Amino acid sequence: MTRGRKPPINPKVCLFRGCDAKGIQRHLCRLHYNWWPFELYIHGEPIEARKVNGQGYVEANVGGIWCLEHRLIIAGELGRRLEHSEVVIHLDYDNANNERSNLQLTDRRGAAAHRLRQKETE
Ligand SMILES: [Zn+2]
Repeated sequence: MTRGRKPPINPKVCLFRGCDAKGIQRHLCRLHYNWWPFELYIHGEPIEARKVNGQGYVEANVGGIWCLEHRLIIAGELGRRLEHSEVVIHLDYDNANNERSNLQLTDRRGAAAHRLRQKETE
């Protein structure tokens, strides 16, 4: 019987399978570090902690990494992480209100139009 030995982990390279970019945090490259909480959440990992950041957005901690909760909620619903071109808007303009009914997935153009409507009503 031959037992395969695990290859040694290279701490300088991203741990994400198939990625050989330089690891910067927790042995993940910048891209995969940003993906990681979304991947975990989609696969059932719970939110460990929440906080409001300086822009008034709620950040959620999943697997020890902070990310934007409103994007996380929509990603969890879709079962995939969001593309950079996909934007989640707060319909009532309250960035901390992450009730599902207050969130809507749109694109950059839709988000810009949404901001414009806010300016018009101010
Ligand atoms: Zn990577």
